[in-house]
Amino acid sequence: MDKKDLFVIYGSDACRMTLDLLEQIRPEVGLAQNARIGIKPNLVVAKQAETGATTHPDLVAGILAYFQNKGFGNLVILEGSWVGDQTSRAFRACGFEELARRFRVPLVDLQCDTDRACSGGGMQIAVCEQVLQLDCLVNVPVLKGHCQTRMTCALKNLKGCIPNREKRRFHSLGLHRPIAALNAIIRQDLILVDGLCGDLNFEEGGHPVAMNRIIAASDPVLADSYVASLMGFSNDEIPYIGYAEALEVGSSDLSRARITALNDDLGSAQLPKIRSLGALTRLIADQDACSACYGSLVHALERLREHGTLGAIRQPLRIGQRYKGKPCDGIGIGSCTAGCARHLPGCPPDARAMVRFLENLPG
Ligand code: SF4
Repeated sequence: MDKKDLFVIYGSDACRMTLDLLEQIRPEVGLAQNARIGIKPNLVVAKQAETGATTHPDLVAGILAYFQNKGFGNLVILEGSWVGDQTSRAFRACGFEELARRFRVPLVDLQCDTDRACSGGGMQIAVCEQVLQLDCLVNVPVLKGHCQTRMTCALKNLKGCIPNREKRRFHSLGLHRPIAALNAIIRQDLILVDGLCGDLNFEEGGHPVAMNRIIAASDPVLADSYVASLMGFSNDEIPYIGYAEALEVGSSDLSRARITALNDDLGSAQLPKIRSLGALTRLIADQDACSACYGSLVHALERLREHGTLGAIRQPLRIGQRYKGKPCDGIGIGSCTAGCARHLPGCPPDARAMVRFLENLPG
């Protein structure tokens, strides 16, 4: 897979979507048949994927099925949960024990692994031994918010590959620079971003926003830059993206990326009734919006709330397929609302574009 490529697939059947993506990418090309392939999900806490905190096991099932069908037998799932939880509890609660039984694949608790000091990015960082022994690392982060770094995805997910004492040190160093340096040490061969229903603000979940997509990349800087745009952030707001780029981990330049959508988003918007989201969704006049479009608008409105500009939105924001071809007053989001007095084109437009559009509406 070329570093410039980003593949996106929409839907809700995570296993099928993953298989379709992998058939397109063919990640096995060039890999020795006995290669040790490590799959690193995000199981930061012992909470199910539906909370918006952790990687969907069905996505990992798709990865395992794909590689096993191609004859690869040396697969392993590795994770080290955050300092406040035990990985063993997370494996159980998140459905990974069952997954490991079904595919006869070992689970490696990196909280119990030995580690080795490695140098990179101007730092020395202890990295778990089992990670260093992999021939191929498949990173499976969740597209979600984070209370300190604002978002977490491919670059930050590698923090699960270091021992707990090192995780504490990362926090004492402000997270951004050590996250970038860690990525100069550990190479990711393939990234499959679980963008099904990550949390709006917190890595521990509780406010899931349906985005109904999986994104594939091989450049973690490009992947995170793209995810930042989907969540309405500029790269400047996520310093570790720029730091990683400066260390030549990858490129954040989306204008040079080749973005391929394998299908259209046909799922309709479904958000759980969560009070903190209600303040945002009350501003949305949804008429059969696709979930990817609707989820991006929720992220964009959250950015406006953070910027202090949400109060300027005084009329409902129209979104959805039933607006297609109809002239109407007001503000529309997405190509379906081209008949609105003012509208933002795109199918779906990303949240960064929505933020720019909404903050620049004439008063
Ligand atoms: S613009 Fe319309 S068709 Fe396109 S993603 Fe949005 S709601 Fe769906």
